[in-house]
Order: sequence, then C-alpha cells, then structure tokens
Amino acid sequence: MNTFLSAAQKSLQEQYLKFVNEVVAPHAADLDAGKACSKDMLTKLSQAGYLGITVPKELGGQGGDLLDAVLFVEALAGHSAGLAMALASHYSVIEVITRYGAELKTRYLPLLARGEMIGAQAFSEDKAGSDLSACQTSFSFSSSNAADAKLTGTKTWVVNADMPALFAVLAKDENGFKVFLVDSQNNALALSERKSTMGFRSARFFDVEFKGAKASAEALSGDGLVIAAAALDLSKVLIAGAALGLMNVGIKLAAERANNREQFGAPIAKYQGVQWKLADFSTESAASQMLTYRAAWSHASEPEEFRKYAAMAKSYASRSARLHSAEAVQIFGVMGISCDEPLERIYRDAKLTEVLEGTSEVQKVILKEQLGV
Ligand SMILES: Cc1cc2nc3c(=O)[nH]c(=O)nc-3n(C[C@H](O)[C@H](O)[C@H](O)COP(=O)(O)OP(=O)(O)OC[C@H]3O[C@@H](n4cnc5c(N)ncnc54)[C@H](O)[C@@H]3O)c2cc1C
Repeated sequence: MNTFLSAAQKSLQEQYLKFVNEVVAPHAADLDAGKACSKDMLTKLSQAGYLGITVPKELGGQGGDLLDAVLFVEALAGHSAGLAMALASHYSVIEVITRYGAELKTRYLPLLARGEMIGAQAFSEDKAGSDLSACQTSFSFSSSNAADAKLTGTKTWVVNADMPALFAVLAKDENGFKVFLVDSQNNALALSERKSTMGFRSARFFDVEFKGAKASAEALSGDGLVIAAAALDLSKVLIAGAALGLMNVGIKLAAERANNREQFGAPIAKYQGVQWKLADFSTESAASQMLTYRAAWSHASEPEEFRKYAAMAKSYASRSARLHSAEAVQIFGVMGISCDEPLERIYRDAKLTEVLEGTSEVQKVILKEQLGV
C-alpha cells in the first residue's frame, strides 16, 4: 500500500490549486454572501472538465479515481465549501450509476461528465435523516412499462435541485427499497428552498416534491438502501476532503495572524499558548489528510476496507476541522468573529461537515458494526 501522492497526483493537485486560486478564491466571500452565483461557478468547473473527474474516458470523463476527486474538493472547499458539497453529491450519483446503472451508464455518464446534468442525491426526508429506512417516498410501476416507475413523496435538503438535475431518489414499495434516476427536465417537480443555513452558503438546498403520475423514474439494479449507502460512503470521503480544504486555509490564516499580531510587545506567535494551538492544528490536519487519502485509495484498491476507512475519515477530519477552526478563531481574537475576515466562514462551514452525508455519530455506528459489535 502506498497512500502518498504519486508525481502525477501531485501535478494534478497543483493544477487544481492553481485553477481554484485563480477562478474561485477571488469570489469566496461573495459566493458565501449570495452575491456571486454558485450556478455560474459550477458552469466554470464544468467547462474546465472537473465535473467528469471520475467518469471513464470512453464516456467523456477524465478517467480519474476517487483520490483525484478528493484532491479537487480539498482545493475547492477552503474557498467554497458549498460548491464542494455540490460536487460530492454529483460524484456520488456518478458512483451509483457506474456501479448499479447497467445500460443507464452510457446514457447518463457522458451528460454528467459534461455538466449538462448535475447529480443530486435525494435520500433524506423529514422523518428519514440518519435512518433512511424510515423513507416514505413511494414508487409504483405502470403496468404498460416495467422500466418506468412513478414516484410520490418529498425529499429534503437536496443540493443541486435547481440545476438541470439528475436526481438519485430513494423510494419504497411493499417489497422493499430502490434508487431511481429522475431527470428534472422531463418531470413535474415542486421545489421549495431551505434558506439561511449556518454554513455551506455557496450552495442552495431544496425540498423536492415528486408528484406521482408526473414523476417518471428509472430504477438502478439492486437494493435501494445498499445503493444509498454506497453513494454516502463515497460522498462522505469527499466531505472529509472538504474538511481538509477548510483546515488548510484555516491554519494558513491562523499562522499568518499569529506572526503579525503584536500584544505585550511581541507577536502573539511567541507565546506558547498560541504555538500549541497551531501545533495541534497541523498535527491533526495531517492525520486527517492521511486517513482521508487512505479511504480514497481503498475505494479502488481495497474495496472491502472502503466503508470502514470512509467512516473513519469523515468523523475524524470533520471533528478536527470543527475543533481547530474554533481555535483558529481564538487566535484571531475579536477579528476571528468578524464577517469581514474569512475565518468565521471557515468555522461555520467546518461545523457542517459533522452533519452532512451521515453525522459523526452515525459513522461510529458504522465503525462498531465493522468490528462485529
Ligand atoms: C446543508 C445540508 C445539505 C444536505 N444535503 C443533502 C442532500 O443533498 N441530499 C440528501 O438526501 N440529504 C441532504 N442533507 C441531509 C443530511 O444528509 C442529514 O441532515 C443527515 O443525514 C442527518 O440527518 P438529520 O439531520 O435528520 O439528523 P437526525 O437523523 O435526526 O439525527 C439527529 C441527531 O441524532 C443523532 N443520531 C441519530 N441516530 C443515531 C444513532 N443510531 N446513534 C447515535 N446518534 C444518533 C445524530 O448523529 C444527530 O446528532 C443535507 C443536510 C444539510 C444540513
């Protein structure tokens, strides 16, 4: 096993950072404040080919692996965690179509790679958050066409729903669960926006109502709960990557501030109380990075270990990001809570990484199951 980055991966990482620094970073504050349009930014990512990182080359993508996608999300998230979330959802829909899509692969993956459709996970409901088996959205097949199902129900907190979206929707009938693909452009759906989130403000979230006879859907092959878990395992590694990106920016800002801010006649970086915060931050962000890259590496190279490392990476990296971005705010003093400084955005976004794509507690439930407990 080698979880260090190869020369090719390092060169990709540099390319990603350069793109993000030039195209996204200058608009980070405006994206967070809703003054710049995240849809336009997603179009720029799409034009640069980044929506197809994990799609095979023969289907129009870049033929990359999960680690490549993690590196991109890591580069992006410190400037726009909302866009990182939008990509995590998109890549997870690509993942389940690749694994469970049979002939749907050739139809949808080229469209998703080109950004003509954006993947949107539609799993959660008001009464089905951590426990997706409480899902109430239902499906029925019309007798004339067994491939064409009708969906009825409302999904909550769906990112990318206002795009030309391809929804992956968890639904059930009396025999069990399935995941269906629904093209937003050919179906009557009602969207209602969830406004004012604490973080990830550069993304928009919607409740989506699928209106029975007017919501036509095609099923992926396999048990719906297994497919939803596969999507979440992938997207949680990407959210761990987003936590890394937030930490990378947070530690850089905190170290700069510590060197530049003088109190009691010296830069505050001279005081051990400040130095230890930075030392712990750098140690835990490095540990988070190793665990996250380890998880991403195992996706293709050690798939039987993937679920375990995905849960470890998500819970560890998101906790580190939340804890140490709070300490970085502390180092900034009153300027840490100023909305004119990027650090308060990093702190708000870091907290959300503990909730999205499976909470930290749910990752621990997965890990105890992996131990046979
Ligand atoms: C900004 C944002 C974007 C989102 N985007 C999407 C999206 O695109 N698509 C989508 O489908 N969903 C999305 N979600 C929903 C997200 O996946 C859920 O919020 C998440 O799965 C947790 O569900 P919940 O919020 O209902 O919490 P709950 O399940 O109600 O949990 C509440 C608390 O109880 C704890 N808990 C629950 N069960 C256990 C247990 N067994 N053991 C210990 N503790 C437990 C949880 O850890 C948590 O602390 C989004 C959420 C947010 C906030």
